[in-house]
Amino acid sequence: MPILPATLSLAADGTPCSPRFDDVYHTADGGPEQARHVYLTGNGLPAAWRGHDTYSILETGFGLGLNFLVTWAAWRADPQRCPRLHFVSVEKFPFRREDLQRLHARWPDFAGLSAGLLAQWPPLTAGMHRLHFDDGAVTLTLVFGDAAEQLPRLSGRFNAFYLDGFAPAKNPDMWTPELFRSLSRLARPDATLATYAAAGFVRRGLNACGFAVVRHDGYGGKLHMLAGPYLHREPLRAPVWPARQALVIGAGMAGAAAAERLASRGWQVTVLEREAAIATRSSGNHAGVLLPVLSADDNLQSRLARAGYLYTLRHLAALPGLRDWHQDGVLQLARDEAQAALQRRIVDSGYPDDYVQWLDRDAASARAGAPVASSGWWFPAAAWVHPPAWCAAALARHPELIRVHTGVDVAALARDDEGQWIARDSQGSELARAPVVVIATATSTLAQTAHLPLTRGRRVVTLLPAAAVALADTVLCRNAYLTPAFRGLRALGATAAPPDSEAAPQWHALNLAKLEAMLPGASAGIDPAQLDGRGCDRPTSPDRLPLVGAVDIAGTRTSVRLDRIARQPGLYCALGYGARGLAWSALAGELLASQICGEPLPVEKDLVDACDPARFAWRAGRTATGTD
Ligand code: SAM
Repeated sequence: MPILPATLSLAADGTPCSPRFDDVYHTADGGPEQARHVYLTGNGLPAAWRGHDTYSILETGFGLGLNFLVTWAAWRADPQRCPRLHFVSVEKFPFRREDLQRLHARWPDFAGLSAGLLAQWPPLTAGMHRLHFDDGAVTLTLVFGDAAEQLPRLSGRFNAFYLDGFAPAKNPDMWTPELFRSLSRLARPDATLATYAAAGFVRRGLNACGFAVVRHDGYGGKLHMLAGPYLHREPLRAPVWPARQALVIGAGMAGAAAAERLASRGWQVTVLEREAAIATRSSGNHAGVLLPVLSADDNLQSRLARAGYLYTLRHLAALPGLRDWHQDGVLQLARDEAQAALQRRIVDSGYPDDYVQWLDRDAASARAGAPVASSGWWFPAAAWVHPPAWCAAALARHPELIRVHTGVDVAALARDDEGQWIARDSQGSELARAPVVVIATATSTLAQTAHLPLTRGRRVVTLLPAAAVALADTVLCRNAYLTPAFRGLRALGATAAPPDSEAAPQWHALNLAKLEAMLPGASAGIDPAQLDGRGCDRPTSPDRLPLVGAVDIAGTRTSVRLDRIARQPGLYCALGYGARGLAWSALAGELLASQICGEPLPVEKDLVDACDPARFAWRAGRTATGTD
């Protein structure tokens, strides 16, 4: 689903306007003042966020981001502000970064905030983009797409609503009864709503959905606006934990990311790792490649990979002290003529240049610095990472909150009457306890997750002396990948091998054959017997999507609704990342932390469901009862 950018246009008096909708982005009487009057005062802010741990706002129409900047500035200026602010905004026609920059230049008061926003402004691709500011205290989730389609896919309950979708007469799609019903589903019992619109049908539509909005004085030349509280709502079912403490089992990428995301919310996390050091098993490779997945139908894999890829790039850039990663771009070559044509068609379907470009063989060879076998996709922002460095940086980010214990093998978990999970070793001795546990061990032998369907999927990576191949500093991939030189070596992988396989000439020979298919002639003279490498597991689930979320109870009665399947209280998992650990770990950590804390989720509901560990039990139940 391509995203069409907004067209930058100014009315005669300099007010930004939309030729598509024939309407202005804010009143000519003053944008920031209008935002404060309508949206802050209309929702009782800043007073309303005081006393909350997290305050969540949902906006329809991000536009210039002015309401966001005004809200963020007011939050910063309030000494009694809530510790965390979530701002989620749906936008069908986002501005390009350079246009937003020009528009923001009109408000020097927001220069610092605008620079922060623009630095993280995502490529204009469909779906949710979560951005963190102010050390994670302020979270902006941009939802690029049509509000009518996207609002039903949001998860979370919001304290305040900003309705700002151009005038109802000019853009009725943003003011429909269905849309108001979606907002009502997302409202907390004590929510409020404000909008500059005052049309009678808007007021009546909102009233019918439980928003008791009434007319108030509008801003500037506008006579009225609407604001009011949300009424009629069953109580929240948000998780309540006796303490903000978690155990994370496994100190690879999945565990490190989950620990870091929880600690960024003030949780105390104990990480338990069986090996003598962190990131020694599947996350111990020399270099991993971070790139998205594209498909003609933009399927679940592609959407999750896109969200994960873009989130991870921002996450890596923000991790203090992380040096061993580089955004040198990734060239993904076509396997054959048919795929070459498909790659080209997919790019032409409407992806922005900063996300992916199609390069013919000559252009691809120029990028690679050597004659490559075919045309391909060029991902200019894609990266390679030394995974152990990432894990170390993530685990070191909140030293006062994250404790890592290595050489500790959790053999069993049990939950006591006070709602604490207790981790024990094989002798039955207690290792640690907490109300929340995240199992992030790639595969798991613990009884609580034994029912989850995971296969080990062994792969062998070859390490090539850097000088063996002459290439620009870019990652090359096709049905293998070759990374740039790092500590004198390039990683070439990965070849599927039987369980427990370690590096051996036969696997190196297969990897070299894949290199040859990307770079004809490159493997000549390289002797597989002289090479080193590494075997590692890439555990995968039957549908090749990860298992992230609350763990279901094995053998439990299934339900028609996935979210109604009984869960083990406080028990979460981050498993089955296959070969996509790099693209999924950070986003999955953020998803888990958001679920655990009852916050708005960072991906659409169908993606949350697609990763839900209970999906297999749910599907089996539906098949058994003939619901499918
Ligand atoms: N809140 C913005 C600000 O603070 O700068 C101004 C929003 S502007 C008045 C309205 C926005 O709604 C435009 O950016 C427009 O592209 C967006 N919009 C219009 N129709 C939409 C739809 N169906 N779904 C999502 N966004 C839509």
